[in-house]
Amino acid sequence: MSLSIIQEAIANKKMLCPKCKKPVQKFEKYAETIDAVRDGFNIVEIDSRGSRVTLTCGNDGCDWKERTEYWRNLIED
Ligand SMILES: [Zn+2]
Repeated sequence: MSLSIIQEAIANKKMLCPKCKKPVQKFEKYAETIDAVRDGFNIVEIDSRGSRVTLTCGNDGCDWKERTEYWRNLIED
C-alpha cells in the first residue's frame, strides 16, 4: 500500500521538500492509480504501486506544494 509508505515517510521525516530540504508536513490523496486499463480489445496490466498525492511542505517560509505520482523520489533512504 503506497499510502502507508507515504504516511510512514512523513511520520519519520524522510519525505523531503525539494525546495527547502525540510521534511514535508502533510499529504492528501487525489487519485489511486488504476490496476488495469482497457486498450482496444486487450486489458493491459499496469503497475499500480503508485498513488497520486498532493504534497504540502508546510514549513515556515516555504510554500512548496505539488501534485505528483513520483513522490518516491522525495523519500530519503
Ligand atoms: Zn519546503
